[in-house]
Amino acid sequence: MIKDRIIELRSSLPVGARLLAVSKFHPAEAIQEAYDAGQRLFGESRVQEVLSKKDVLPSDIEWHFIGHLQTNKVKQLVPFVTLIHGVDTEHLLKEIDKQAALCGRVVDCLLEVHVAREETKFGFTPDDVMRFFSEEVYKQYEHVRIVGIMGMASHVDDEAAIRSEFKILHALYEEVKAQYASWFRELSMGMSGDYRIALEEGSTMVRIGTYIFGERY
Ligand SMILES: *Cc1c(COP(=O)(O)O)cnc(C)c1O
Repeated sequence: MIKDRIIELRSSLPVGARLLAVSKFHPAEAIQEAYDAGQRLFGESRVQEVLSKKDVLPSDIEWHFIGHLQTNKVKQLVPFVTLIHGVDTEHLLKEIDKQAALCGRVVDCLLEVHVAREETKFGFTPDDVMRFFSEEVYKQYEHVRIVGIMGMASHVDDEAAIRSEFKILHALYEEVKAQYASWFRELSMGMSGDYRIALEEGSTMVRIGTYIFGERY
């Protein structure tokens, strides 16, 4: 079942887009099943959980961190994480930079951009992101490489609304890349309910959990 979903998703991805299998709350056995189907990129949202899973799973898995990261957990994550998707404050960025320097790494990160209708205290506005690059704020953080942006659409059934939010994220991504950050390579958007729309709107990485692994409890 997991295997079938992985194969189906991977074969339907357009060129230039990758699948992040969001395995949070699911056991190592489920991840192993996806791995055996060829999947190597997995997304987790809790540091303790990924630490315990990583030890019992193959070492060539790329672990991505999604969701909200607390600054006091950064230290444990930084030595092995491939990409941190949800950097939502400069305070967090500063801590990632500090811990990355201590272990001699440059850590790839995405700025989380808030475009959805839902009120949230997480994420940068598109204006914040433009300022971050135009004022070269990123240059202060030598051990962090901002390689793109991540966003979530509103939890609504209105496809046009979702699509317009993905279009905003895509336009922002393209503008920053063209003007300031030629190295940009990831536009992380699209989840189980809306990944097809996200791919049509230029996503380079879809983060899919429920559709692959079933409900989380
Ligand atoms: C949990 C989560 C996902 C996966 O959501 P599904 O609806 O299960 O596919 C994707 N992105 C983020 C940031 C998440 O927290």
